[in-house]
Amino acid sequence: MKLHLGEIWHLISNPFFADAMDTALQAIPHGALLVDDAGKIAQIGAAADLIKAHPAIEIVDHGDSLLLPGFIDGHLHYPQLDIIGCYGEQLLGWLNRYTFPTEAQFSDPDIANDTAQRLITELYANGTTTAVLFGSTHASAAATMFQAALDRGLRAIIGKVSMDRHAPVGVLQDVDSDLRDSEALITQWHGRAGRLHYALTPRFVPTCSEALLAGIGQLHARHPDLFVQTHWAENQAEIAWVKELCPADCDYLGVYERHGLLGPKTILAHAIHVDNAMLDRVAAAGAILAHCPTSNLFLGSGLFPLDRVQAHDIRVVIGTDIGGGTSLSLWRTLEETYKVQQLRGKSLTPAQLLYLATLGAATGLGMQDQLGNLLPGKAADFQVVDWRRHRLLAARFTRDLTPDEKLFALITLADDRVTDRVYVQGREVYVQAP
Ligand SMILES: [Zn+2]
Repeated sequence: MKLHLGEIWHLISNPFFADAMDTALQAIPHGALLVDDAGKIAQIGAAADLIKAHPAIEIVDHGDSLLLPGFIDGHLHYPQLDIIGCYGEQLLGWLNRYTFPTEAQFSDPDIANDTAQRLITELYANGTTTAVLFGSTHASAAATMFQAALDRGLRAIIGKVSMDRHAPVGVLQDVDSDLRDSEALITQWHGRAGRLHYALTPRFVPTCSEALLAGIGQLHARHPDLFVQTHWAENQAEIAWVKELCPADCDYLGVYERHGLLGPKTILAHAIHVDNAMLDRVAAAGAILAHCPTSNLFLGSGLFPLDRVQAHDIRVVIGTDIGGGTSLSLWRTLEETYKVQQLRGKSLTPAQLLYLATLGAATGLGMQDQLGNLLPGKAADFQVVDWRRHRLLAARFTRDLTPDEKLFALITLADDRVTDRVYVQGREVYVQAP
């Protein structure tokens, strides 16, 4: 057992509900987290009380630093770490010019392992403890990512990308071997260590034949507890192409529905150009949407209709969408989330933004019993945020600010500089160099 001391902030309810708007963010100025030997939070409260209750316990004193739940990144592509910031394309051109040639290299185990290791370091450096990851087409690269996550403590949902058309040969795979590889990865990795999960990962309709989608649908029917992750309605040219490829379907979403791929564990990334009838169908299926604002702005895709999505009672996670996205930091991603909704005439509160990257994301993934805040019984996945490492924040925090004001300053200014330490299941997985 260990007692971690610091200023604790976390969400204890959903601040998008009017009656919880002012009470959802709990801030404990001189707080303490009691972490048990199984890596769970045993108690949370005032430091003075918990020290008194556990006089002989080992104390880890984080001083004035903040203790926040680990961030959850709901959508990113691990092989695309090194194509962040590639110039001048929208979605389809970007895939052809940068993504496919890069992902083709992931048949090389050294490239796959080097990238997986560096990605985990970057995630931790940004306070992210759970990630939902696309791999490349190669089963070996997905296995490498799983192994790296297993070794280094990351909590992850990972899938080998499935695609068999409309891309260079190096990233395509025929249907039979694709399904065989996916099945083997499921057997080997799904459920490992209580924190690794497999996601069936058809890239998107344009690169998946009818036979491939049908096969993945059958695989899903045999393994209904698997996640499914894909892309949907990101870009107008993409949507027009799907209409051409699947003229008999009512729309893009209808293709996934027809193959049994739309369900309560399906994560659809983007969902920008969508009408209310489509959102009704997403809601009826209980599916999850991943909003990726830095990517949507960078690729010129459009503005995510968060209010309409929430009015349909659809769960939302926030993703960095590396490498179409431009930062691995959820702080930076939440800032862009705020700006996208500003452009749509809505001002999200600081608590609502933090919710989207923590408790809201955990709820989105159906993991709210384990993750998302620091209440007793949850996994001790948390980050220590030292705002003094950022000059402007250090100056700002000397003023008499409320937790909400400080939180919004962090959302606007913070990055990997402020991540002092990161813990997953109570184990320290990252310490910033002094
Ligand atoms: Zn993506």
